[in-house]
Amino acid sequence: LHEEFRQFEIEVGQIVEEMRAFTKEGEIATYIPELRRADAGALACALYTKNGTCVSFGDKDRVFTLQSVSKVVALALAVMDSGEAQVFDKVGMEPTGGPFYSITRLELTRHSKPLNPMINAGALTVTSMIGGRTETEKVERLLRFIRELTGNDTVTYDSAVAESELETADHNRALGFLLKGEGVIGSDIEPLLDVYTKQCALSMRCCDLARIGFIFGHEGRSPKTGEQIVPVPVARMVKTFMVTCGMYNESGELAIKAGIPAKSGVSGAILGSVPDGMGIGIYSPALNEKGNSRAGVELLKRLSRHFSLSIF
Ligand code: GLN
Repeated sequence: LHEEFRQFEIEVGQIVEEMRAFTKEGEIATYIPELRRADAGALACALYTKNGTCVSFGDKDRVFTLQSVSKVVALALAVMDSGEAQVFDKVGMEPTGGPFYSITRLELTRHSKPLNPMINAGALTVTSMIGGRTETEKVERLLRFIRELTGNDTVTYDSAVAESELETADHNRALGFLLKGEGVIGSDIEPLLDVYTKQCALSMRCCDLARIGFIFGHEGRSPKTGEQIVPVPVARMVKTFMVTCGMYNESGELAIKAGIPAKSGVSGAILGSVPDGMGIGIYSPALNEKGNSRAGVELLKRLSRHFSLSIF
């Protein structure tokens, strides 16, 4: 068995290095000024496996922010805190086929709501439903939850990235005010943006990310103790959103070519969750035209093909 695992490690290591060439075809996101500092050639991959260990490859010690990957974490937390009924009274469950900054349907009717929790309009609404009386309490709640998911008490948010985004967040600010005007969001927008940008700036290494993927794949249970960190129906819901909307307007193609529930962020992070199998954490900041990690997407497809990981 030991030999088998070693062989597995060798194969993944080779695949990761082969995929590095794709970093040259992507571009780093620049609309959040602080993200410009990323190294465009970086590629890191971690796999959290059933025996409770994490193996990592490439630039595995890079620390990166979650950006939109945090939307799945916030969704799980908001549903746990406010209940499924309340959350989905304000946010829909349908893919947009559009990019993350989509304003699709918000303008159409009086009682409109964001189409899903994976676009920014939906994510802002979801973040407003995380438990806590003050913004500080909400951030504390998020930190406690992310530390449970990663099993790493040192995980925190990168304040330089959070501040840099807050200063330039006018598109999200506009979405927030629109949603507040429609009665979808009840709280004040500026403090909400403060929580949201800190949520997006949660930062970690690829092994931390892979452990989150493992837990969602493992019916919400902690790898070693089996403790239920996320209720089973919430873990399932999160994975389903990852399949239908996790990779924005590349979700359909990825479902066919990889078939692994996955969520991307504009930092170049990708969270993958193979049900009852493996958690995947990828980081490579050069993005394709859909805003997903260029090499990361290729890596996900290759891993899926090589190890038959598609859920379909
Ligand atoms: N923080 C980013 C934003 O709201 C997240 C977007 C993304 O990762 N796609 O614009």
